[in-house]
Amino acid sequence: MRSLSGFPLDELVQILSPLPPYKSREVFKWISRGVHGFQDMTSLGKQEREELSRRFSLRSTEQGSRLADRDGTVKLQITLCDAAGTEAVLLRDKEGRGTACISTQAGCPVGCVFCKTGSLGFLRNLDAGEMVEQFLHIRELGTEYGGEVSHLVIMGMGEPLLNLGELRRAAGIITDPRGLGISGRRITVSTSGIAGGIRELAESGPPLRLAFSLSSAREELRNALVPSGTGNPLKRIKEALGYYQEKTGQRITLEMVLLGGLNTGAEEAAAVRDFAQGLDVVVNLIPWNPVEGLRFRGRALQEPSPAEIEAFARFLRQGGLNVTRRFRRGRGVAGACGQLGSLRRVDMERTSPVE
Ligand code: SF4
Repeated sequence: MRSLSGFPLDELVQILSPLPPYKSREVFKWISRGVHGFQDMTSLGKQEREELSRRFSLRSTEQGSRLADRDGTVKLQITLCDAAGTEAVLLRDKEGRGTACISTQAGCPVGCVFCKTGSLGFLRNLDAGEMVEQFLHIRELGTEYGGEVSHLVIMGMGEPLLNLGELRRAAGIITDPRGLGISGRRITVSTSGIAGGIRELAESGPPLRLAFSLSSAREELRNALVPSGTGNPLKRIKEALGYYQEKTGQRITLEMVLLGGLNTGAEEAAAVRDFAQGLDVVVNLIPWNPVEGLRFRGRALQEPSPAEIEAFARFLRQGGLNVTRRFRRGRGVAGACGQLGSLRRVDMERTSPVE
């Protein structure tokens, strides 16, 4: 049975025929409100609701186990219709503002050496409905844990720009003011550097905030850390980022995961500074979040020391760059950046809302 969550309004009008278009618009609105059954669509007639429930479903995914961290982060396992799994995360700041972090793939084909998801391999792309539903699930968690979810980051499992068609479709549904109506300015998509995808997104939209996970601005090291990098040289990526900026007028975030003793030296910082020249960027430093068993060139990966982080940030600031440091949220539940994928491997119990 087809789930309706992945249909933009114009398509919904077509497939719900002979339901009148104005009623299809109501169905679209009800889906965005997060109803679980057609019986809850009280503005439709009883017969209409029964007919719809015979033909369609509203969700193709289910919430699975969850883990709540003391810092307010909640990691949620999502069961897909074919029993594959993916993960989404609720992030909350000190003011209680909620951000949903969703996945675009089950597993990931890029295989970054510092990322848990990358070590799992690739299962499949998610469709638009599976992405929209992750947002709805996380919004429900937000309500349960006492806060609104107003922002979305597409930084979970997978490389979003390798699933660009479904990502654009999901983003179109999520930003549609007749439904969820989340502004594109509140949505950030993070890529490991798929130059063609960046250009395509710039051309076809919707205009979202873009983050590029740089990892190293020295080609040789980057190609080793981010295996997909070999097909996307830094020069091409930089040109694509410039094009994105030209088209959207938006500042881009350069994410720099810092790996202790590996990419934190002055030579690395200088390469990042040079890469950023000519772009309007903010550099977001992400101290690597530990994942057991990940190694590089025969050596276990290490967290960067506070001194390494500080020296790196100072170098970039002295070079005139805006630098932020990502606050480590979700580490207690392996829900921080680069740690997703562990829910499939550990037994978890449902946890209660954080005080
Ligand atoms: S960091 Fe992102 S692109 Fe790299 S393996 Fe992990 S999920 Fe994939």
